[in-house]
Amino acid sequence: MTHQILIGQTLGFTADPFSTPVDNATDFQSNGGVVISEGKIADIGTADQMRSKYPHASVTDYGQKLITAGFVDAHVHYPQTAMIASWGKRLIDWLNTYTFPEEMRFADDDYANEIANRYMNLAIAHGTTTMCSFATIHSQSVDAFFTAAQSRGMRAITGKTCMDMNAPDGLRDTAQSAYDDSRALLERWNGVDRLEYAITPRFSPTSTPDQLAALGALWAENPSCLMQTHLSEQVEEIEWVKSLYPTARDYLDTYEAHGLLGDRGLYGHAIHLEAREIDRLQDVGGALVHCPTSNAFIGSGLFQMASLKAAKLNIGLATDTGGGSSFSMLHTIAAAYEIGQLSGTALHPAQLYWLATAGSANALHLGDKIGNLRVGNEADLVVLNLASTPAIAQRSTRANDIWEALFPTIMMGDDRAISNVWVNGKHVHNK
Ligand SMILES: [Zn+2]
Repeated sequence: MTHQILIGQTLGFTADPFSTPVDNATDFQSNGGVVISEGKIADIGTADQMRSKYPHASVTDYGQKLITAGFVDAHVHYPQTAMIASWGKRLIDWLNTYTFPEEMRFADDDYANEIANRYMNLAIAHGTTTMCSFATIHSQSVDAFFTAAQSRGMRAITGKTCMDMNAPDGLRDTAQSAYDDSRALLERWNGVDRLEYAITPRFSPTSTPDQLAALGALWAENPSCLMQTHLSEQVEEIEWVKSLYPTARDYLDTYEAHGLLGDRGLYGHAIHLEAREIDRLQDVGGALVHCPTSNAFIGSGLFQMASLKAAKLNIGLATDTGGGSSFSMLHTIAAAYEIGQLSGTALHPAQLYWLATAGSANALHLGDKIGNLRVGNEADLVVLNLASTPAIAQRSTRANDIWEALFPTIMMGDDRAISNVWVNGKHVHNK
């Protein structure tokens, strides 16, 4: 068995820093060593310990750079890669003006493959090693995404985005075809290599009750699958949902009534929640996915991180590209900090970094595999340069501890801070 040692500063988590004091929830080594073997993290300790324990290992010394788990982006639309940063609209107009015409193009296999590969390259260059993506209505958009992830050895999740109303010609399926296509894709891809299928109704405004029920039935037949959708992103959207589903108690109830509320459900945005919705999510255990750059960019509102974490909800973090304005989970963490400040809570750097790694992995029910520097986890790692620009470097020289050293990179860093990326124990990116 061959071993490889990566030397640098190392940061992992032993607990959720929202519920455990930061010093007890984190494991930081200023001169650490991470041992990789057969795609997994085989050992972690000080650099000296690892060198003496594995004398025949090859060693890569990253100096003062910070080695952590790769970022986990829990909600992204890879087909929107080419239309990120489109100006001037709120959610529904933004979908109709920019998103739907772009998603139409994924009927073409070549275009789907081109964008899937472009997206994967951008994600890795930004340190994201796992993502849970929406595809488009086209089965080939799912095939393109999984093929691109598989060829890079990545752990990745997607699903055909089902819509059978309030979408243009060419972007609508039916209740039956949504079920049939989703089932065929699930059977083709779920559990192959590191790939997982997520049943994916876009959101209640674009699915009839029959379609939601058909996808709820598919989930009941495949309960180990994830299910992803959107929930309570903008107030106008919520009013629209109430007019489309007049008997529903609230937005979440449109999913609940059709078998789409469950522990392995992922509910993107979840900004304007009612008390009953929070209670049900607490009871059932579905995860909320916070998309802060998107919420600021589209003007959706302020996610209530502190109170929802205090309510013990499972919460992940995500770019929501291209409603989100960046591929960078560093930018995303910075936006989460700013939205926390606007809501009266200064999130600690440990909490922010946990959300982008272990928190998102937990939301995806992958916390036992990825998202943390922990023995036995898969070796998806990012190596951060904490002095990647002159502005960050001059600030970080004053740092008294790892959090002061890391925070300028959180707030001002981007893909220039991503020095190296490892996927499944293989080095895949070098800045
Ligand atoms: Zn989204």
